[in-house]
Amino acid sequence: MTFYVTKFHKKICLYFKKNFSVKSVYFNSFGDSSVLQFGEFPTPKINDNEVLIQLKAASLNHLDIWVRSGTREKNIPLPHITGNDGSGIVSEIGKNVSNIKVGDKVLINPGLSCGNCIYCKNKKENLCTEYRVLGTKENGTHCEFVKLPEQNVFPIPSELNFIEAASIPLVFLTAYHMLITLGSLQNGETVLIHGAGSGVGIAAIQIAKLFNANVITTSGSDEKLQKAKQLGADEIINYKEKNFFDEIKHITQKKGVDVVFEHIGGNIFEKSILLLRKGGRLVTCGATIGYDTKLDLRYLYSRHLTVFGSFMGTSIDLKNVLQLFEEKKLKPIIDSVFPLEKTSEAHKRMESRNHFGKIVLEV
Ligand SMILES: [Zn+2]
Repeated sequence: MTFYVTKFHKKICLYFKKNFSVKSVYFNSFGDSSVLQFGEFPTPKINDNEVLIQLKAASLNHLDIWVRSGTREKNIPLPHITGNDGSGIVSEIGKNVSNIKVGDKVLINPGLSCGNCIYCKNKKENLCTEYRVLGTKENGTHCEFVKLPEQNVFPIPSELNFIEAASIPLVFLTAYHMLITLGSLQNGETVLIHGAGSGVGIAAIQIAKLFNANVITTSGSDEKLQKAKQLGADEIINYKEKNFFDEIKHITQKKGVDVVFEHIGGNIFEKSILLLRKGGRLVTCGATIGYDTKLDLRYLYSRHLTVFGSFMGTSIDLKNVLQLFEEKKLKPIIDSVFPLEKTSEAHKRMESRNHFGKIVLEV
């Protein structure tokens, strides 16, 4: 009898899953936060290698703002659902899915790739020619259901709730890849982390301290710098009040730093190169204030410097990050939580730049 009830119950659930609409935040034209709408989309249909996730939380990244405003690219199908990061419960799996089961509590690796090329097979997915971030070309996580390949789904570290889990992937994956995988940050080295209050900056400070580096960080806000100090930053510089270049020369007794964590661009990149010690590495993942910069090549070769361009990270980076969360060596920093329906308010908060930590949407 129980068997039949369960089977009947499953059929009813399946019917609703196939036909019920998915509450989503989307836009039909590019623009400011007022273009965001709240409405219903059909439930995504999975293939044999995919899983369907019922989202419980999704975080906001600057990428969402750039996608919404059309400053990144305008060649995406509309209407479009934003959102890169997310966490939730697996509600359906494809025939070939073997490591994930229905009911698992999971978080998402937002880096999508072909899964078949030499880079994907060697777990260097972010080098795949098809690599892109969830929510930029295809529909993202600011909704109730999202489908993903099995390899993009990871168990949530124990004791983290859905909101905390959704805040982790993009920023910690990016920061770990930059500092550890590419930058090879070593015990006792000095690292300059630009943008103490940014999502990637907050992740980078924690990771750098975990690897016993001396952390110098910058921000235009004393309040954010104090919070960065609480996270472990050794030296803080308010770039609006002091010349960060002179200040770092002074702090390091003219020696400079071993690694620069860069995502600002323009003349900040130029000055950061000049702050590197012999054998120093600069890793950049962005150019917020400008794409063009000067680079004195004599300085680059005579001081054995390395410049890395970095975009997102690999599944191995994310696994390493999640292990550190499991061991409670890293912690999620949440600024605020908004209900999904209030996503446009969450966008406004992010654009105000008053936040410290992740802005998360509760689904
Ligand atoms: Zn590939």
